[in-house]
Amino acid sequence: MSSVRHDAPTDSTTPPSPDDEGTAFADLGLRAELLGALSALGYEEPTPIQREAIPPLLGGRDLLGQAATGTGKTAAFALPLLQRMPDDRTGGDPVALVLVPTRELAVQVSEAFHRYGKDLGARVLPIYGGQPIGRQLRTLDAGVDVVVATPGRALDHIARGTLRLGGLATVVLDEADEMLDMGFAEDIEAILEHAPERRQTVLFSATMPSRIDGMARQHLTDPVRIQIGREQTVAGEAPRVRQSAYIVNRAHKPAALGRVLDVESPTAAIVFCRSREEVDRLTETMNGRGYRAEALHGGMSQEQRDRVMGRLRAGTADLLVATDVAARGLDIEQLTHVVNYDVPSAPESYVHRIGRVGRAGREGVAITLAEPREHRMLKTIERVTGQRITIDKIPTVADLRTRRLELTQAALRESLLEDDLDPFRVIVETLTDEFDIMEVALAAVKLAHEAAGPTTEDEQEIPQVAVRAAREGRPDSDRRGADRRGGGGRPRSGTTQVFVGLGRRAGVRPQDLVGAITGETGISGRDIGSIEIADRFSLVEVPQGIADEVIAGLRGSTIKGRKATVRRDRGGEGR
Ligand code: AMP
Repeated sequence: MSSVRHDAPTDSTTPPSPDDEGTAFADLGLRAELLGALSALGYEEPTPIQREAIPPLLGGRDLLGQAATGTGKTAAFALPLLQRMPDDRTGGDPVALVLVPTRELAVQVSEAFHRYGKDLGARVLPIYGGQPIGRQLRTLDAGVDVVVATPGRALDHIARGTLRLGGLATVVLDEADEMLDMGFAEDIEAILEHAPERRQTVLFSATMPSRIDGMARQHLTDPVRIQIGREQTVAGEAPRVRQSAYIVNRAHKPAALGRVLDVESPTAAIVFCRSREEVDRLTETMNGRGYRAEALHGGMSQEQRDRVMGRLRAGTADLLVATDVAARGLDIEQLTHVVNYDVPSAPESYVHRIGRVGRAGREGVAITLAEPREHRMLKTIERVTGQRITIDKIPTVADLRTRRLELTQAALRESLLEDDLDPFRVIVETLTDEFDIMEVALAAVKLAHEAAGPTTEDEQEIPQVAVRAAREGRPDSDRRGADRRGGGGRPRSGTTQVFVGLGRRAGVRPQDLVGAITGETGISGRDIGSIEIADRFSLVEVPQGIADEVIAGLRGSTIKGRKATVRRDRGGEGR
């Protein structure tokens, strides 16, 4: 990569005031303990949804928010909830209940509560199926402040009298559309009946189908409404750059970033991260992988920032890893690539970031690494900007090898056209006495290729993650009804059919099975294939790789209040 020039070094490295985007966390009225935790996590400023949701939630209002994963919605409800928690609580029943669709999310959300609430001593308990109930009972008994639960297991505890909702001040329904898709509507209704009438209710959902609207009308009182990506005003302002995204699991992100940079070979690139912490971590990782990366974030002194910009200008660094706040106002002329290491928290922020390339008719590239769960946010950004983001496959090792050979070839062509090669003529002439000229050329190319950079020998393939098309508001039960197959169907290749010994006579519906599986395991409803319900049994098609987990999950739960025989389907024998 060549050097990066920075046009106005003195002014533009000055840290921007928080007023640039209007609000800092401190302006939202959050207490010192929470501000301390956020600063320790390296969050530099609130995301748009946090800016809009936190003040009314602190004021005790109900809220209906349309926001997908990646917008920062968890902190948007968790911070006010922690702040409203009475001081010095010991013992007692929870003051807040957060209902979530899956075990995975229950764990994630309660970890978020722990991180934000550690200086407040918040006692947070995730409860979900599949986890030994004994530990949950003991912790509930000792007293908790916040319970984060899947609806099925919450209802179990309510029925046993071990989860008492009489002291709830706030109920949050997170990813409400997912919960309805999974057949939890009745469970949620039943749970809300146990909650005090006078309470704060918060509902977040990525989509707003009419069923969610109905739910909000019934359970929310005069709610504040917030919608991320509602503004269409940024359309047209977005620059014309090549925009693509890669879907990767979190664990593979550093490798994916390296692979994409290797194939793209940018002149200069800026990589945006969400927090200071992530900037520091990623800079270290990328340096360890042989890139010359520099960190830039709001926690750095002016002197440190100037030094970073100096190294970029001098060409001794190729990658700038930065937070939005730190990069604001920065104008780097030779920037060719903008990389979003995470999906930005709002379409406006995406437009801001990619606006740094493709200026004045130059070519620009914007690349986004998204986790599977953040796929929907990409769709929102596309809708708001009116521009397409192509989902590309992570380059394979073979792609990388091809690309590196192309680069060597280009370098040789350049040398043939421009360099004075005469001093080397004597070597070629001497060697051709002994070898064919083609052999000599091949050896020279090999040396040039190896000198240009690492070979692909140590490279590992990065797993591709498939993402299903977004199901805007379409209930799962419809989808499952539509592709239900007649009796005796063979499973498709790569899938297994799981036999469940309860069927129509027991009142089993597809959503009951989906709910039992997803509530008890880390599996998403999207992983479950067709469901066939016969009079006395049901067949659930699942990917082979997760069949054992599905079977264990179903065995550990009840369906319509009953235990069922669950096993791999053996193709109709004994039925
Ligand atoms: P969520 O949309 O709630 O799943 O959050 C997405 C991610 O953004 C999580 O990893 C959070 O830790 C992170 N995050 C949330 N708010 C902020 C913020 N204001 N600054 C930086 N990172 C944040």
